[in-house]
Amino acid sequence: VSLTISPIKNANGEIMGISKIARDISEKKQEERRKNDFVSMVSHELKTPLTSILLSSQAMQRGFKNNNLEIGRNLSVGIENQAKRMTSMIQDFLNLAKIEEGKIRMHFEYFQILGLLQEIVSEARYISEKHIIKIQCNSSHEVLADRDKIGQVLTNLLTNAIKYSPEGGTIVLGCEKISNASLRIFVSDEGVGISNADQKELFKRFFRVERKELANISGFGIGLYIVAEILHYHNSIISVESEEGKGSTFQFVLENKD
Ligand code: ADP
Repeated sequence: VSLTISPIKNANGEIMGISKIARDISEKKQEERRKNDFVSMVSHELKTPLTSILLSSQAMQRGFKNNNLEIGRNLSVGIENQAKRMTSMIQDFLNLAKIEEGKIRMHFEYFQILGLLQEIVSEARYISEKHIIKIQCNSSHEVLADRDKIGQVLTNLLTNAIKYSPEGGTIVLGCEKISNASLRIFVSDEGVGISNADQKELFKRFFRVERKELANISGFGIGLYIVAEILHYHNSIISVESEEGKGSTFQFVLENKD
């Protein structure tokens, strides 16, 4: 909060509304700083997997030259994983751009939620082999939603659960019927957790928690914003329950059809 702003006084000399003005300005500055950080981070984040793809391809070519197929096979798995990482990142950027332009469209259909959870988990396995990822969901549950977009919601929540929890931690993706017409879907982890103050900011564009122990974890601060926006188009809300040092559970409700 900027303290250089002088108090606004009314005709009687009483101080009026100083904190509101100070807050507005600091929010604007913060947003600007986050935007600048965002551009440099995007460049960095895309460059890292690209460099790795480039180096792996060159090593693969050397392996093939020496007829070493095993090296080629291992490197190609790495290349695929890096490409998947970039694809998911770019999907977030595209969604962000469409949300900003008000052009994001939903294509609603009925589908089985368990099948989608299984797909998302197997797609995300490459991010970490060291977390225990479990699914708790009955195969009979169907929802009315945009399958791809809910897939992106779940990918973002699962990627975060992996990023913000220690290796060996358990992550659960689940679904649970809470009434005839609605299904609760959740992603829980045993990670670093989020303070009450940060929980209020979490779904804002470009917001990232500033804690020393998180300084090395890269990200853009748009994942949860996109989650919240996509769910908004489903008449749904993302919510979080979390305790610092213990873990977090993100959840939302979709229309259920059995
Ligand atoms: P990013 O992960 O790219 O920073 P997100 O919008 O996905 O952006 O998340 C915003 C912030 O919320 C993160 O920077 C992180 O501090 C916090 N966060 C998100 N998910 C979790 C989680 N499962 N556990 C702890 N903190 C989380």
